[in-house]
Amino acid sequence: MNMRKKINSKRKISVLGSTGSIGKSTLDIISCNKDSYHIEALTAYSNFEKLSEQALMFRPNIVVIADENSYLDLKQALSGTSIEIAAGKQALIDVAGIQVDWTMVGIVGNAGLEPSMAAAKLGSTIAIANKECLVAAGPLFMSEVEKNRTTLLPVDSEHNAIFQIITEKDRKNIEKIYLTASGGPFLNKDISELSLVSPEEAIAHPNWSMGNKISVDSSTMMNKGLELIEAYHLFSLDKANIELAIIIHPESIIHGMVNLIDGSVIAHMSTPDMRIPISHTLSWPTRTYYPNQRLDLAKISSLTFFDPDIEKFPAINICKEVLSSGGSMPVVLNAANELAVCAFLDKKIKYLDIIKIIEIVLNKHVKIYPKSIEEILFIDNETRVKTIEEIKNV
Ligand code: NAD
Ligand code: MG
Repeated sequence: MNMRKKINSKRKISVLGSTGSIGKSTLDIISCNKDSYHIEALTAYSNFEKLSEQALMFRPNIVVIADENSYLDLKQALSGTSIEIAAGKQALIDVAGIQVDWTMVGIVGNAGLEPSMAAAKLGSTIAIANKECLVAAGPLFMSEVEKNRTTLLPVDSEHNAIFQIITEKDRKNIEKIYLTASGGPFLNKDISELSLVSPEEAIAHPNWSMGNKISVDSSTMMNKGLELIEAYHLFSLDKANIELAIIIHPESIIHGMVNLIDGSVIAHMSTPDMRIPISHTLSWPTRTYYPNQRLDLAKISSLTFFDPDIEKFPAINICKEVLSSGGSMPVVLNAANELAVCAFLDKKIKYLDIIKIIEIVLNKHVKIYPKSIEEILFIDNETRVKTIEEIKNV
């Protein structure tokens, strides 16, 4: 009896992408308060060592490895346990659709789209870190969230900050939303020095420790451009006359700001530690003690701000154009960026080729208006094929 009663009183959660930077931080927070949660599912792409280590520690009901080639290794690593093991893309989507109270979507890239859609159908709570799903399928994803009365909590630090700032009664009083940007590792490099930067330099972010893809995106400022699109959908800005702006803030202490119609500006501050927004989404609508390094403003002494250099970081304007163009353009942007970043990390193309390739692929695309996830996945796939061709041609 007691065991079952004990499990029933715990909050049931799934962590999709548990072996990544967001996933590991999520499990860190859960381990501070292990008795309050029961983990239903953990998932990963191919890192069976990390996934099995996490599974042995957190004892989920099921683990999913998306890469089927890693299934037997995972099975062996978890032999002798009662943990269910599944593999493949469909298994990941199915597990995202198991009823839980809270789901972290910490998968990187468009691979997070279908699991996010499955989680949106549950009508429970999703902590969404996967920004690519909002970029590629914002309107469809948001309408699934609304239709099922799912609670959507932003994990991305800027969006989590804005979410914490905006109260329902002030929503109509907002003039402008600022997303802050650290400026990434190349903020102080001259534009002429960028042609030769290496993947190692691009992923060495000055303030945040993150996965490789988002780290490269931060260095090109594509990340901030994607975040504009993410914010547009998350905060339903299509239905409001609110300006959305980016401001460089190298200290990464203020994560978001909102200007109100009476001239007030409300900002959200914290040390740059993703465990803070993750902890917020896990405890929402209450808060839980989290023993991180506290913000000491006297020690930091000054906070600086300036406008982004759009000549050096053309990704920002590309994203603004894609957002205003709409239709299938964000799907193409997202897919071309994922592949170009991957090619750069694999040293197949040079740093400045990332944006060059994205522009070529966007310019060649004939816009349509996708009405279903299947159509979005079709365009995503078609874009990947075309991007591979452009990668060969540079
Ligand atoms: P990461 O690369 O560290 O981890 C990604 C996770 O997704 C891993 O568990 C990996 O196994 C899984 N995964 C990758 N490809 C997959 C596939 N094809 N199928 C199934 N699973 C797959 O990435 P991250 O830095 O944790 O970022 C995750 C998401 O959160 C991204 O969308 C990123 O933009 C967003 N985000 C991250 C941070 C951060 O600090 N890391 C901050 C804000 C937003
Ligand atoms: Mg961010």
